[in-house]
Amino acid sequence: MYQSKTIQQYQQELANDKNGCENAVKYFLNKIRDFKHLNAFIEVYEEESIERAKELDAKRINGKSLGKLYGVVVALKDVICYKDHKVSAASNILKARPPARAGTDGDDSVGRGFTSVYNSTVVEKLLAEDAIIIGNCNCDEFAMGSTNENSAYGKVLNALDETKVPGGSSGGSAVAVQAVLCMISLGSDTGGSVRQPADFCGIIGLKPTYGRVSRHGLIAYASSFDQIGIFGNNIEDVALVLEVISGEDDYDSTVSNKKLEKFSSSTDNNPRCKFAYFKNALDHPSLDPEIKNSIEDLIKKLRADGYEVKGIDFELLDYIVPAYYVLATAEASSNLSRYDGVRFGYREGNPDINLTDMYTKARTKGFGKEVKRRIMLGTFVLSSGYYEAYFTKAQQVRRLLVDQTKKIFKDFDAILIPTVPATALNIGTMEKDPVATYLADIYTVFANLTGIPAISLPLFKHFNNMPFGVQIMSDKYNEVTLLQISNRLLKDYKTA
Ligand code: GLN
Repeated sequence: MYQSKTIQQYQQELANDKNGCENAVKYFLNKIRDFKHLNAFIEVYEEESIERAKELDAKRINGKSLGKLYGVVVALKDVICYKDHKVSAASNILKARPPARAGTDGDDSVGRGFTSVYNSTVVEKLLAEDAIIIGNCNCDEFAMGSTNENSAYGKVLNALDETKVPGGSSGGSAVAVQAVLCMISLGSDTGGSVRQPADFCGIIGLKPTYGRVSRHGLIAYASSFDQIGIFGNNIEDVALVLEVISGEDDYDSTVSNKKLEKFSSSTDNNPRCKFAYFKNALDHPSLDPEIKNSIEDLIKKLRADGYEVKGIDFELLDYIVPAYYVLATAEASSNLSRYDGVRFGYREGNPDINLTDMYTKARTKGFGKEVKRRIMLGTFVLSSGYYEAYFTKAQQVRRLLVDQTKKIFKDFDAILIPTVPATALNIGTMEKDPVATYLADIYTVFANLTGIPAISLPLFKHFNNMPFGVQIMSDKYNEVTLLQISNRLLKDYKTA
């Protein structure tokens, strides 16, 4: 019922409906209950979202002016801070309830997990435009992963086939939109965590330009890559949410003051834009043959319709994943040092325990296997003796990628590439071969290394019945072109 409508259509229908927002919230709450087994949500703000809906209904009936996201039901990934609500990055280190401390009479409300003491900028902006936040979504621990199996709250299931993963790390947010448990959700994309689950779930996933959306109140994984992204069912809605959550912020100096051209009022005056694709990306041995064929077919159709689509050489392709995993883990090892049981996180042991033992205990118990693996890898590549060989080298690769990307966008409007080399994996595959899972990030991490915006569009269906997408990237701060192209591709070339 809500899936086929745009936000604008929904808001128009609300105009004459006394309990419109309340009914919408109740509809989604029922669906969340029906699909509880998918494990997409960590916490659902049931009473609170009904209250907010009632207030918003009253606001409309009283003729007050309404925000751009009036009545829109949104879910947040569990890495986005919402004041007075729990947030844990799906990690035991923030989720865990420490034993009652001396003097609290066993009152376990003291130190029960971590509750956010402030709103992230995106939450402030959503609320200021009258959105309704319905709950927070499951994800991979500290946003590290591609399957949503690394979570202290258990795995999330793909609603289209429950034996498959939804992708990660924003798997819960993706399934929340896929199974229509909300209208829009936010995730975070450090190396593909919005685009890859969007691909696996058959929905749209946008990673904006690095510096478009404030990271204030986003739990950091790798700060020079992290960017909040949007899941939705149509471009119009995704564009509207981007308009709301983007923009300068005193709390995040990496956010640019470059104006975001509005998709809704832009004219699509470049209908036959120029696409580049990387020849070796399509010839890559890891790419599923049917995905390859579908993308090649799309290229043929685009050419037949007058688009210029050119294959270019991109010899840095095989360096992308190693550079990402060196730099992202290095940043993670530093970012996650704050979870020491003192400043943040779970603490165990008696007051006499020595400091090092206390840190060790907290971090050994609090972090999961994948997070530990990455902290160790990141610490290693930053350690003296290895720094030059790994960290510096990876930084150099990043610089080359940025330079090459600039050159590409001198000649082309967009890059067209698969989102993921294969469709959604079976549950349990990642555990057997984490390196293979890392290598599957080959098409997504490029946009994070270079900071450009990228989107996954659900155009195709595999013969195994699972969806897959195509990924489009545009130049930095050129989301409007990206959204215009996406709109056209979804209208004219969707075969699923
Ligand atoms: N698969 C990537 C990783 O595990 C995705 C991370 C992300 O975008 N948060 O690092």
